[in-house]
Amino acid sequence: SILTGLVFGILGVALCAWLLTVRLRSGKEILTGIKRGQFYVVYQPVVNAKNLKMSGVEVLMRWNHPIAGSIPPDAFIAFAEAQQLIVPLTRHLFELITRDARRLQQVLPAGARLGVNLAPSHLHSPTFKEDIQAFAASLPPHHFQLIFEITERDMVKENEASCLFHWMHEQGYEIAVDDFGTGHSALIYLERFKLDYLKIDRGFVNSIGLETVTSPVLDAVLTLARKLSMTTVAEGVETPEQARWLMEQGVNYLQGFYFARPLTFEQLKEWEEETKT
Ligand code: C2E
Ligand code: CA
Ligand code: CA
Ligand code: CA
Repeated sequence: SILTGLVFGILGVALCAWLLTVRLRSGKEILTGIKRGQFYVVYQPVVNAKNLKMSGVEVLMRWNHPIAGSIPPDAFIAFAEAQQLIVPLTRHLFELITRDARRLQQVLPAGARLGVNLAPSHLHSPTFKEDIQAFAASLPPHHFQLIFEITERDMVKENEASCLFHWMHEQGYEIAVDDFGTGHSALIYLERFKLDYLKIDRGFVNSIGLETVTSPVLDAVLTLARKLSMTTVAEGVETPEQARWLMEQGVNYLQGFYFARPLTFEQLKEWEEETKT
């Protein structure tokens, strides 16, 4: 009957979903995904608040899973962390960027910034320096300014981090504090580490234009950044009002759907051609 069909249908779907979760948890799925080329990258332009010209891009990873469909990075990065697969996954990310590097060089001018997100477990892995050096060496020499983005909540292992950040600066890489305002690390770290960029979390940017008392907080964040000589980037800018307000406040760079969504290389090229004039 229709009813038994329905029951079996629902059971079937539930079973598939359960199997998929088990497979995702086991870690095999990520390795298979790497082998089969299911991961790809998109690029989100970051614009200079002074002239609205593109200063660079942030690289964001995507997983096109054959059964689950598109799995967002917030989900699979967490799986990868849990399964100790961050290192192979990030090496794969580097490979994907390297594959695009030649043509990226044609769209992004010399000195353009290439923002790459790093997971904390990679930072503390024994191969971290090697991995970074190999990645940098695989890019066209002196063309991109690499910025490694690390979330505020991941800056905690203080001594270790301070050595690493020092080393990264020596090598000529820049460091951005990602999602600033969402973590709970002490502000004192910011002062000690002397990092380059402060990325204001989109939660703050979101509330611009709403009748809330968030602007004092944003004010304080911007004052803090200025005092620490950090360059500011606002994330998640979605409306012209937000963009205008942030520019008036002296934020240095803007990123968000109002300017561009994360784009495939082809889309980035089109976007760049449209906005160039
Ligand atoms: P994130 O580093 O804070 O990246 C910015 C996220 O905000 C991206 O989500 C981007 O698509 C989204 N976004 C940008 N502009 C807007 C906007 O105007 N409005 C809204 N609502 N959202 C906006 P995505 O790509 O889903 O990435 C989520 C997070 O996953 C990233 O947050 C980052 O922490 C992590 N992630 C992404 N790619 C990688 C990667 O290659 N490696 C590592 N370790 N983490 C990654
Ligand atoms: Ca980021
Ligand atoms: Ca962020
Ligand atoms: Ca985030």
